[in-house]
Parts: sequence; structure tokens; C-alpha cells
Amino acid sequence: MKNTDVDVVIIGAGVIGLSIGYFFSKKGKKVIILEKEKSFGMGNSSRNTEVIHAGIYYAKNSLKAKLCIDGKKKLYEFCEKYSISFKRTGKLFIATTKKEIPALEKIKSQAEINGLMDLKYLKKNEVKNVEPAIECEMAVLSPSSGVVDSYGLMQCLLRLNEDNGALLSTRSPFIDAEYKNNFWKVYVGGANKTEINTKVVINAAGLNAIKISNQIKSNKEIPLSNPVKGIYLRYSGKSPISHIVYPSLVPGKIEERVDATPDLNKSLRFGPSVEKEEITNTDDYSINTDIKKRFLPSIKKYLPSIDENRLTLDVVGIRPKIKKINNSIPDFIFEWGKDEGWLDLWNIESPGLTASLAIGEHIYNKVKNSNLI
Ligand SMILES: Cc1cc2nc3c(=O)[nH]c(=O)nc-3n(C[C@H](O)[C@H](O)[C@H](O)COP(=O)(O)OP(=O)(O)OC[C@H]3O[C@@H](n4cnc5c(N)ncnc54)[C@H](O)[C@@H]3O)c2cc1C
Repeated sequence: MKNTDVDVVIIGAGVIGLSIGYFFSKKGKKVIILEKEKSFGMGNSSRNTEVIHAGIYYAKNSLKAKLCIDGKKKLYEFCEKYSISFKRTGKLFIATTKKEIPALEKIKSQAEINGLMDLKYLKKNEVKNVEPAIECEMAVLSPSSGVVDSYGLMQCLLRLNEDNGALLSTRSPFIDAEYKNNFWKVYVGGANKTEINTKVVINAAGLNAIKISNQIKSNKEIPLSNPVKGIYLRYSGKSPISHIVYPSLVPGKIEERVDATPDLNKSLRFGPSVEKEEITNTDDYSINTDIKKRFLPSIKKYLPSIDENRLTLDVVGIRPKIKKINNSIPDFIFEWGKDEGWLDLWNIESPGLTASLAIGEHIYNKVKNSNLI
């Protein structure tokens, strides 16, 4: 068994772990990122819609709103600097009936509450000019929304980590940790079992973060995990639309909203769905529903010319949600454990990809301000 000393151990090489590693290694800190899989980014970071969100619907002053808006700016600059593929497609929120127009007003006013003043209404004929295939009564355009190559982003972050001397250790599951004499001893499994001594451990294990927190009893209050599966359909062939399209819903009416997102290969994806099934195994990406049959009526409402024979099943993601706290939608949570130097990241659901660079910097500053390293 090997023994290593570092400043920071990061559990999980998704986009969040890689971004955190980048900010620490850039400042000369000795970093090891542990990943249980054979490569980085095999969890939710490669099972999402790749949308760069504008930061519209999150509660004012929430971490989700702040880090999404800051992260979006950082992400566009980062993609330009390092030639990562992205496109500022813009997003259309659409009302397919007159009844849905108040929902558009709500979206625009929530955006303004969050400081986003660039959303604008488009009349029916203005939508036809930019998206001839879309049927709707009215729309709101969010011009700063876009799509990014999430794999390219992670590949670039990994390269920068390695250039800065950080190490990604794949097939290296976090097994356990003990806190003794102001140090953490981290036990790593896999073929080459290792013990790592470190001042700081950052639990960025996505869907496994809460399980790990419970295992080492990191916090006094650990939320309950509530993972939610999301399924996508892919349209094979050239996308008939160029904007991301989100249908609005009539408030109070329970129906499934099916989003459409053109990707960087000019293809189109629909979803993700919101599955109600209880998830006991977060590695289970099986599909237990006729998603095409379920999605079609919603898609046809705004894209009537869609050729349903071109719709095929695509990836499945599992949102690492936690149970509601005080009945409100939980924010991103970054919490120190009861023993010094353990930092938990919980509920890093959407807009985690958009916010990834802002989260990395935020976590770096949080640790720096603790004077632990
Ligand atoms: C369906 C869906 C759609 C989404 N769409 C968007 C979107 O359009 N835009 C957006 O901004 N965000 C989106 N998100 C959110 C975004 O994908 C996530 O917030 C982000 O990918 C979280 O990254 P992560 O690094 O925390 O998690 P992950 O990518 O899941 O990484 C966690 C890593 O930890 C590893 N790990 C787990 N346990 C251990 C262990 N014991 N030891 C070592 N390693 C371990 C895992 O293998 C994994 O690689 C979406 C999410 C989902 C599920």
C-alpha cells in the first residue's frame, strides 16, 4: 500500500471536481482527484442537455442564481480562450396557447428580478421569422442561453489540472476516511490500494455525495437523497430548429413539459423527462416507460411537422436531488463537516454545468478563507 501527502483530495472527476481541481492547482496546491470509473466525466456531466443557462428561474440571491449567472460569463470566456465548442443559440420560451402567455410574463419578470434585462417578447410572426417550424402564440427570447461541448470542457479542465501538477487517479474509488491530528487519512480502493494524507477533502461525488457524507458522518445534518431520472429522445437528421425551445405551462395544470435542444452537431434532443419512479440504484440507467409515446403529443403542439419515425431513445441522466427542506426548492449546498477540512457538495443539479467554473472558484475561496491550507 502506497502513502501520499497532498493539500487537497477531491472525490469525483465530474465537471465540478475537475473545475475545483483547476482552481486549486492553478494556485500551486497539490491536488489528487479520485474517480471510481475508468475515466473522468462518466456521471451526470456527460448525461445532461449541455445547455448554458441564463440564470432565469432560480430564487433571487440563491447560490444557483448567482453561480449560474457568474458561471455563464466565465464559461463563454473560457470556451473562447481554449477553443471549446459552444454556441450562443438563444432560448425561446413559448406559449402554444393564449392561456400560457401569463407564464411567459412570469419568466420575464423573474429574469429581471435576477438582473437579466435582455429578455424580449416575440410576437407570433416574429417567431415564424426566426423559427419557421415552431407553432406558438407568443415567445420570450433569452439571447444569452446557449449550448456547450461538456466533454470538451472537461477534457480541457483535465489538461489544465495536469499542466498545473494535479493528478487524476481513475479506477480509484474513495473507500473511507479518518480524521486524526488535524489531518485526513483517505483510503482509496481499486487495484492499487492507497492511503492519502491531506488537510482538505472535497466531496464532489455527485449522486454518491450524500452516501459518502453519511458513511463518514461528516455533518450533523445530512439531507435525504431524492434522485430523479431524466430520459432523452434524439431526432436523427438535421435539426428543424436552431434555438433551444422551452414550452410554457398553464400554471396549476399538471402536464409534462418537453424541451427541445439543438446540439452542436446540428442534431436535436427532446427532454429530459421527469420520471416518478423511486431510484434505489443510482447506477441504473434503464428505461421503464414508452417515452416516445409520452413525449409526442407535447412535441407536436409546437413542432407539428416532426417526423416521429426519426425519434430514438438517447441517454438517461439521474438528477442528484435532495428532499425539499422547509418545503422550498433546495439550493446548491456547500457545507463544512463537523471535523475540520471536510467539505460536502450536495444537490449539484442543473445549472451545475453552466455554473461549474463559478463553483470551482467559489469552493477555492471558501477553503482559502478557512486558512486550512
Ligand atoms: C438530466 C440532466 C440534465 C441536465 N442538464 C443540464 C444543463 O442543460 N445545463 C446545466 O448547466 N446543467 C445540467 N445538468 C446538471 C449538471 O449535469 C450537473 O450539475 C453536473 O454535471 C454535476 O457535476 P458533478 O461533477 O457534481 O457530478 P458528476 O458528473 O456525476 O460527477 C461525480 C463523479 O463522482 C464519481 N464518484 C462517485 N462516487 C465516487 C467514489 N466513491 N469514489 C470516487 N469517485 C466517485 C462519479 O463516478 C462521477 O464521475 C443536468 C443534469 C441532469 C441529470
